[in-house]
Amino acid sequence: MIAYLERFIQENDSESRPDDDVLPNNLQGTVDSLATGLAGKDFGGMYSSKARALIRPSGAEDVSRAVKAAVRSPNLTVAARGNGHSINGQAMADRGLVLDMRSTADNHFKLVRSRGGGRETFVDVSGGALWEDVLVRCVSEFNLAPRSWTDYLGLTVGGTLSNAGVSGQAFRYGPQTSNVAELDVVTGKGEVLTCSETENSELFFGALGGLGQFGIITRARIRVQPVPDMVRWIRVVYAEFEDYARDAEWLVTRPDGEPSFDYVEGFVFVNSDDPVNGWPSVPLDPEQGFDPARIPKTAGPVLYCLELGLHYPKSDHTSKIDTAVNSLLGRLGFVRKLEFEVDLSYVEFLLRVKQAEIEARRNGIWDAPHPWLNLFVSKKDIADFDRVVFKRILKEGVGGPMLLYPLVRSKWDSRTSVVLPTDGEIFYLVALLRFTLPYPEGSGSVEKLVSQNHEIVQLCNEKGFDFKLYLPHYKSQDDWKRHFGSQWPRFVERKASFDPMAILAPGQKIFGRMP
Ligand code: FAD
Repeated sequence: MIAYLERFIQENDSESRPDDDVLPNNLQGTVDSLATGLAGKDFGGMYSSKARALIRPSGAEDVSRAVKAAVRSPNLTVAARGNGHSINGQAMADRGLVLDMRSTADNHFKLVRSRGGGRETFVDVSGGALWEDVLVRCVSEFNLAPRSWTDYLGLTVGGTLSNAGVSGQAFRYGPQTSNVAELDVVTGKGEVLTCSETENSELFFGALGGLGQFGIITRARIRVQPVPDMVRWIRVVYAEFEDYARDAEWLVTRPDGEPSFDYVEGFVFVNSDDPVNGWPSVPLDPEQGFDPARIPKTAGPVLYCLELGLHYPKSDHTSKIDTAVNSLLGRLGFVRKLEFEVDLSYVEFLLRVKQAEIEARRNGIWDAPHPWLNLFVSKKDIADFDRVVFKRILKEGVGGPMLLYPLVRSKWDSRTSVVLPTDGEIFYLVALLRFTLPYPEGSGSVEKLVSQNHEIVQLCNEKGFDFKLYLPHYKSQDDWKRHFGSQWPRFVERKASFDPMAILAPGQKIFGRMP
């Protein structure tokens, strides 16, 4: 038995097999062509694939060597894997090389002041660093923090910058892609290039929101600001979509310098006592009760919750915060007495989803499939979207949050690869964050939920809504062409310049590997 176990361990620990000559052999990090399990899984839990090798690079030079080995080979591709929190296999490479970028997490961490005595401050971080670690280190070492976040911080810098990176600060500072001054990128030819708005700018803007198509981000220079001490976190409830949208849009378009909240998000929830989808999902503290008697009789099957945050210094007296909050809330038309507040430190606030993760891991829904759908929908169509999607198709909820909040186009840089709806200054983020049961009664329903997602997208197309998928997933190049619309030629040109053999991020299924 022991001999068998020893053989088993040796075989599975072995890092090579006979036909490994196409793999990079001069790395400082590791190459494992047997234990590749991690490379074939993601948070979505709906796709799996078998990588040729899982590589843990030590840094940009290793990434470059891996890419060059793929270039030399007849058919290898390379996927950077951040934290694998994609939903549809985007960080996978079927029979290709998957680079676990987490192995590079600690390669960079340096404070940088802007040149020429400018007042801006940045921090250099690794593309493989998790945002939660960036937050904790920036706060503890410099008392500074990035300005623009995602809701959940167990994601890598390179992973979110390859998409956009959106949360309740984006209305003011833009997405994370608008808060980067410089990148180091390994292109699909294996070149290691530094790029910024003024140096290799096509690569810089291409890589931001570029779905990993033009290069692998190994370092990012992120704009930071002094850390606020505290956040008053607030939720207020609306019965009517029109009131909700009017107030949310007013808050995200306050001119600079006018009082406003520092964080603006919101979500749709079911008008019922359902513990996951309904009233109990709104209070911020188990002590706070949700009094359904307050809901107007005219309310429909879903209600709306505006989620707000106000930063303040610890030294401020509570009465000062109350006055500031009440003067802002006083201008909003939510259902009185359906308001909930808690005070948290800034770091606790940013790590708020971590607690939900711990609970979801405990009850198994973190590791079950996640057929999520994320969209950007133009303001001109969002009321119709609400009527046909939230009030009809999703009136019983999705088993998790249904985010809905406005964003402001002028905070997004149109030179990046991110694709937005075409019309107007305001568009909405819609995120259907479905959590499915891992138990037998939950299994089998994933296909139904995926087809409900298709139904929603198809409906948006049929109604002619101005919308784009966020964290897009398509299987045919025609669909990708439609997705990029007028930006498709630029995307193709950038691909030809930086990854002409289509080595990189094959899991996005945009371009096929050139022979
Ligand atoms: P991966 O899934 O590992 O990779 C994503 C893509 O980027 C792949 O194509 C991969 O090849 C490529 N890639 C990865 N690293 C690099 C790199 N260094 N250089 C170039 N390309 C690279 N998004 C938001 O905007 N806001 C949110 O609030 C938000 N919340 C989320 C909460 C949860 C629980 C989850 C699971 C996802 C959330 N997302 C959110 C989506 C998230 O931003 C994307 O899924 C992101 O891609 C995940 O980052 P990752 O590090 O896991 O990337």
